[in-house]
Amino acid sequence: MHFIDPHAHMISRTTDDYEAMAKAGVVAVIEPAFWVGQPRTNSGSYSDYLSHILGFERFRAGQFGVRHYCCIGLNSKEANNEPLAEAVMEILPAFATKESVVAIGEIGYDEQTELEDRYFRAQLELAKELELPVMIHTPHRDKKRGTSRSMDVVEEHKLDPDLVVVDHCNEETVKEVKDRGFWAGFSIYPHSKMTAERMVGILQTYGPEKLIVDSACDWGVSDPLSVPKTAALLKENGMPEEHVRMVTYSNALAIYGKSGQMNEEDWLSPAPIDQRTLYQGNSILRGGQTPNVE
Ligand SMILES: [Zn+2]
Repeated sequence: MHFIDPHAHMISRTTDDYEAMAKAGVVAVIEPAFWVGQPRTNSGSYSDYLSHILGFERFRAGQFGVRHYCCIGLNSKEANNEPLAEAVMEILPAFATKESVVAIGEIGYDEQTELEDRYFRAQLELAKELELPVMIHTPHRDKKRGTSRSMDVVEEHKLDPDLVVVDHCNEETVKEVKDRGFWAGFSIYPHSKMTAERMVGILQTYGPEKLIVDSACDWGVSDPLSVPKTAALLKENGMPEEHVRMVTYSNALAIYGKSGQMNEEDWLSPAPIDQRTLYQGNSILRGGQTPNVE
């Protein structure tokens, strides 16, 4: 079975993770631009970060047979640093129009401040102008209100909900997200509020249409194998194979494929792995290691 993990901060993960993901059937990952665990102090480090996820990280994934895509955006936490946010807004269009960018994201609210609201709206306008899908990060605190408000703002800016994924959903928010015509993402973390077990219940209640499972793996306690593990659990619980495929593969492809940047052929007939390849003179191998050459 093939899987897509449509929310994975691979820049924070190891080569072991890529190997394990490829072995488990993860053919593609989407890396949304986000904060890096501490605030960036200037737009130069933001610019280098965006180049990194679009460049070296994409190369690194490819060296393990995993196709890598990005969402480009200014995250809600750093939207609160106005001088930084202004500078980042200037550079976003140039990055958002690069190859392998499938959406503007992850954007939205954290503490639901005025500045977060301003830059969320500005980036919705950018998505509209570039005709790109949007990935919305919903806040962990005051989630229900933050989720409703995010959708209100999308509607106010006249974006098609069918082009927008509302991520980090849970039992409290999924119904409204589906009823309003948005895609609902579920980040499955180990030992946390949203688990694979609870995903079984959600799927039984709401069906597979427009639901998407992701790992949201990053530098925190998270599991890059959440998508294949959730698929296994759904199957064990008697979910039809086609429904499992929808929530762990084809729904993500359907929405992010609207960017025109993500196609099944990318992983069905990929370039063969050749770990002798260099990226700007750099290899993923260290001295004496044997390259994997397909
Ligand atoms: Zn994230």
